[in-house]
Amino acid sequence: AMAKPMLGHLDPEFLQIMNKLQELLRQAFGTKNPLTIPISGTGSAGMEAAFVNVVEPGDRVLVCINGVFGERMADVADRCGAEVKTLSAPWGQPLDTAGIEEAIRAFQPRILGIVHAETSTGVLQPIEDLRPVLKKFPQLLLLVDTVTSLGGHPVKVDDWGIDVCYSGTQKCLSCPPGLAPITFSAKAMEKIKGRAKKVQSWYLDMNMVGKYWGSERTYHHTAPISMNYALLEALRILHEEGLEPRYERHRRNHLALVRGIEALGLHMHVAEPFRLWSLNAVSIPAGIDDAKVRLKLLQEYNLEIGGGLGALKGKIWRVGLMGHSSNEANVLYFLTALEQTLKEQGFEVPRGAGASAAREFYAEPA
Ligand SMILES: *Cc1c(COP(=O)(O)O)cnc(C)c1O
Repeated sequence: AMAKPMLGHLDPEFLQIMNKLQELLRQAFGTKNPLTIPISGTGSAGMEAAFVNVVEPGDRVLVCINGVFGERMADVADRCGAEVKTLSAPWGQPLDTAGIEEAIRAFQPRILGIVHAETSTGVLQPIEDLRPVLKKFPQLLLLVDTVTSLGGHPVKVDDWGIDVCYSGTQKCLSCPPGLAPITFSAKAMEKIKGRAKKVQSWYLDMNMVGKYWGSERTYHHTAPISMNYALLEALRILHEEGLEPRYERHRRNHLALVRGIEALGLHMHVAEPFRLWSLNAVSIPAGIDDAKVRLKLLQEYNLEIGGGLGALKGKIWRVGLMGHSSNEANVLYFLTALEQTLKEQGFEVPRGAGASAAREFYAEPA
């Protein structure tokens, strides 16, 4: 799709592509929000756009932190001039809903920022559990990072009462990096329209960007045309498969991987109900050289996995099964390659056990 000839950013044909993109993004996010568009920039630009539009200097913002991306949220909110308070959980665990409610009651924030899929730890935060809490604080805006969940785990913006939700193209949407889908609820739009001062960022000001994507079509900045072609194609592929079958595929490949990991005598870092399907955090066994394993996998098997970040550096491997890459062949290949690599470091592994266990799982009825 990206090799297609360029169109002008106001070409009627490109305007049609923009309309289709918005329609398919609304379906992916599970929302009817009119302002649902791709931001020109990566996932972090989505994060900036989310905060810079709804946060006014002095606003109280509560940020939940259990990994790198929660930390990034707090930094971004701080740069917007917010009065930031953070609520933390150990890396590898979700935040407790009752604890979040307590913190909201004590701090009375205007905005609650939270990560749905914490890529640095492999934890899934049950956002839907916040629904009854949100009902008690009608002023509160819920801002959620779904960069590693959109297209891999259910994300239901309207049902879950999310006000601002952003993602990225290169995780479960299986598209090159470069755009950040984002959506704003009516309540979020009200906050933006009622701002005393202009949005501090000219580039990410939704009042102006929204006019280019809305009926006015006013030039704001030149859309990265090829990236938009790519996202349209990625979303078409997503909808061809269907949202539910796609989630189920991610779930099954994750479960197969876990079976294999456990059959190799290894352990998952995250407790069972909170494991991401898209990002599998595997605890590194004692005596194994993290960097050596990852280098070998890359050089000899052309297979890249992530190392731990921050507090989890050297403690976990992060195995992505996102979008197109969440498939049976990858799961079996990874388990086989990991077994070989661990053996070379003297780790006793039952021969072929990982891939066999995963194969058995796949043979079971869904
Ligand atoms: C990758 C990621 C981001 C940042 O996205 P970039 O495309 O790297 O800017 C933000 N949040 C989460 C949870 C991510 O996984």
